[in-house]
Amino acid sequence: MLPLVVDPVDRTALVFGDRSLTYRGLASAASRLAAELPEGGRVAVWAVPALETCVAVVAAVLAGAAAVPLNPRSGARELTHIVDDSTPDLLLAPPGAELPEALHGLRRVDVNASPAPDAAPPHREFNEESTALVVYTSGTTGAPKGVLLPRRAVTATLDALALAWSWTDEDVLVHALPLFHVHGLVLGVLGPLRRGGTLHHTGRFEPSAVAAALRGGGTLLFGVPTMYHRLALAVGEDPELAGALAGARLLVSGSAALPLPDHERLAAATGHRVVERYGMSETLMNTSVRPGDGSAPGGVGTPLAGVDLRLVEEDGTPLPPGDPEAVGEVQVRGPNLFTGYLNRPEATAEAMTADGWFRTGDMAVRAADGSVRLVGRKSTDLIKSGGYKIGAGEIENVLLAHPAVAEAAVTGEPDPDLGERVVAWVVPRGEAPTLEELADLVAAQLAPHKRPRVLRVVAALPRNDMGKILKRSLGG
Ligand code: ATP
Ligand code: MG
Repeated sequence: MLPLVVDPVDRTALVFGDRSLTYRGLASAASRLAAELPEGGRVAVWAVPALETCVAVVAAVLAGAAAVPLNPRSGARELTHIVDDSTPDLLLAPPGAELPEALHGLRRVDVNASPAPDAAPPHREFNEESTALVVYTSGTTGAPKGVLLPRRAVTATLDALALAWSWTDEDVLVHALPLFHVHGLVLGVLGPLRRGGTLHHTGRFEPSAVAAALRGGGTLLFGVPTMYHRLALAVGEDPELAGALAGARLLVSGSAALPLPDHERLAAATGHRVVERYGMSETLMNTSVRPGDGSAPGGVGTPLAGVDLRLVEEDGTPLPPGDPEAVGEVQVRGPNLFTGYLNRPEATAEAMTADGWFRTGDMAVRAADGSVRLVGRKSTDLIKSGGYKIGAGEIENVLLAHPAVAEAAVTGEPDPDLGERVVAWVVPRGEAPTLEELADLVAAQLAPHKRPRVLRVVAALPRNDMGKILKRSLGG
């Protein structure tokens, strides 16, 4: 799954601030730790953004143990939920890391990230269906579920991304993402290591740190929309930042939709069309825009190599591609899929069709060329109003282009006449806009039935650690 033997062996694998590890160093540090890990067991990883987290996960891969990354910013309840659900054999953490009480019951093993002389990986044979990672979903729509990711899915997705993005051992990936989800860990850490390239993690996200890492040789940038939003706001006044971003080979966004105004600002200042890819914990990556394909912002591209994708109507009938108005649920099939939810056989069965398609819960339209545009999640972003199905995302894009709107979220709430009515939640920039203004803007740019009927001005939108808006906390 991870070759780790690269030429030359002293190529840099990982950089975190002023600490780094070569491939030789990483292989020996991870091998020493792997010898202590139970094959077929589960090891929790205190996933702070540090070298130790990478060494711990690589050691688990070498040992054939499943790594369970823990979000260090989780509360006691969340940690207890994950520990009780995944029952790890032990917990890997950097030496000296202070751990919350919820984890005190676990046997702790310190991770030493310094190279170990003469350490070699234990000889173990792997079944590609064995679990490499147990990743908990973001909990955007409900309690986080433990997703069992086999080795096969990780390699399939990383190799498909390599094809789509021409990702090679010469690439230096820059990211500032947390390491306990698929985006930051599978793509962001295992991605460069599978290619024999380099990860440069900047620590806490700061536009200036990203610019410095790109100027220092970074070729790829991975981020979530909240990061690109901050970059988009900063590039206009910061030519150095704009220059650093322009110098990257590829800017990639995912985990949530990147608003159109951010796409536009970044394109104007850097000349890059940010490449959006679409994936989830259960399926790893499904689609991506191909660099230089000339496609309009707002789409998530076409299926990656090996991935079958279809849209289906509510009764499960597949929609023929090519009707840009026909909204259906995305279903996917392929080697990138998980093997199931941990301890939740009913949830697993519910998520799969009889013939092996995974029901993503995401709604989309598909153009004749096969490219996909997400409309939103079935559960929180699809508003059924006056006989229409309205996607929250396109309304959010219109609202975000209004100068007095800093952040926006659109939800539906029960309405005696319409079934549901469109509600706009807005964080104002300066003086708050009026409902009438926003409703007119939406009616003019989209269609009258899409206009918000209610405006709620708020100081902030509830977001999780990946910056995703928690619409269930908005009552949507
Ligand atoms: P939970 O399943 O617990 O509610 P979650 O679905 O947010 O949480 P993840 O698996 O981390 O947990 O996120 C996957 C979801 O993120 C996708 O189903 C999709 O809704 C959204 N997503 C991912 N990439 C994109 C993208 N490029 N554009 C829009 N949405 C995206
Ligand atoms: Mg989900």
